Amino acid sequence: MLTGLVFNVQRFSTHDGPGVRTTVFMKGCPLCCAWCHNPESQSASPELVRLRHLCMSCGRCTEDELDSPVVIDRNEDDVEACPTGALQGVGERIEPLALVTSVLRDRIFFDESGGGVTISGGEPLVQAAFVTEVLRRLRAEGVHTALDTCGFGRWPDLRGAAEHASLVLYDLKLMDPARHKAATGVSNDVILDNLRALAGVHPAIWIRIPVIPGVNDDDANIEAAADFVRSVPGIRQVDLLPYHPTGEAKFARLGLDYALHGTTPPEQGRLDTLAATFRDRGLLTTIGGHA
Ligand code: SF4
Ligand code: SF4
Repeated sequence: MLTGLVFNVQRFSTHDGPGVRTTVFMKGCPLCCAWCHNPESQSASPELVRLRHLCMSCGRCTEDELDSPVVIDRNEDDVEACPTGALQGVGERIEPLALVTSVLRDRIFFDESGGGVTISGGEPLVQAAFVTEVLRRLRAEGVHTALDTCGFGRWPDLRGAAEHASLVLYDLKLMDPARHKAATGVSNDVILDNLRALAGVHPAIWIRIPVIPGVNDDDANIEAAADFVRSVPGIRQVDLLPYHPTGEAKFARLGLDYALHGTTPPEQGRLDTLAATFRDRGLLTTIGGHA
């Protein structure tokens, strides 16, 4: 039976494509970006997370267990037994029809706002068969669908999922392969090749670039990104997404180091300059994303 591992469903989202949307967050990502807003998404396995600030050391967990914020051998009984709710499951298995039925509850908001459903993550292509089936069912219902991907996956998987997506939100992070690998754990060769191939078959792709001070906001990277996007036929929209330390508290709760501690969001003047780099090349560019 086909199932997917979903770690969150966020209703009334306005940042993941046009209109009011429901965003489905899939678990599992092959990248490990330091600025990730959802570090709990990176593992492709269901996990239990021990939230230290809620733990009252009731004695059910051993000292060794308390040292580890993530419980790999998940046991639902542990969740029930924790008196403070400090043990929380991350990732629930669900069948495509059940997920589609659930998100269609908000259809009236999609229809009134020009919104729809966005499949995000993590990286949706990690669970390509499930994601493709969910997108297919939603499109068959007449719902606007968006696939939010980092582009790191098998081309047949991307092509198959994108075929049922009204819109693809495609992330670009760094243009230099070595810098990309240092920042995310993987090179960008596959990501750039996939984007070129996708632009040849898909009519609606929006590029999304997180602007991370000290990581990818330098002139050389931004100019290389703008030149690359300009060179791909059919892509004319770019969203610059300013860094925000949203993920830092989550990293802490997971007991992970936050490499960007102390990094502050980019200043408006710098963002305007970066946006101009894209606009000078004829690209429709926003700061913060299309509403
Ligand atoms: S059961 Fe909950 S409150 Fe008790 S030690 Fe474990 S995490 Fe802490
Ligand atoms: S690609 Fe996205 S989900 Fe994956 S680690 Fe990077 S920021 Fe997080």
